[in-house]
Amino acid sequence: MRLPKALEELINSFEQLPGIGPKTAARLSFYLLHTPQGYLDSFGQAVINLKKNTVECSFCHNVAQSDPCLICQDKQRNQKIICVVEQPMDLLSIERTNQFRGVYHVLHGAINPLQSIGPEEINIDSLIRRIEVDYGIEEIILATNSGMEGEATAMYLKRELVKINQERKSKFRISRMGQGLPVGADLEYADEATLRQALEGRRSY
Ligand SMILES: [Zn+2]
Repeated sequence: MRLPKALEELINSFEQLPGIGPKTAARLSFYLLHTPQGYLDSFGQAVINLKKNTVECSFCHNVAQSDPCLICQDKQRNQKIICVVEQPMDLLSIERTNQFRGVYHVLHGAINPLQSIGPEEINIDSLIRRIEVDYGIEEIILATNSGMEGEATAMYLKRELVKINQERKSKFRISRMGQGLPVGADLEYADEATLRQALEGRRSY
């Protein structure tokens, strides 16, 4: 049976999304067919606006509504403590713990030689520059995931940070978040209590 073109197109679009197979794509599309047109209009508009109405913060690379983002603008937060995460979703997870009052740097990835993702492919240069020009930095928390890529990224960053620290009188602390986090688990999936513990129990690295 040949489906109406509009339905087929929607199914194809859903299928492109991570974790969605052909069956789920079809189920979602048929579900939408039975929702009011008003809902579909606002759903479509939300998709259209997604990229148009968001920017990447030029300081921390977080996805935001303004540049600098609200976190980088916030004078109440300690701008001298930078927590380095792989993805905006990781930042969101840490924010939900209400435990961290520093700022962030979002790498948008991790070093992965198997996929030819080197340090140049993620936001490492901008992090180094950010630290190099700021002599007041107190701590860099490496909060990349505990899997192979996350560890490789943390190790690479540590080497670079130690070099910067060597030339400084007042050195910043380099720490690694991870205690209590299951090995290989993404920050994104850790519950708040575990994350809070991992943040509190961060060790010098
Ligand atoms: Zn920012």
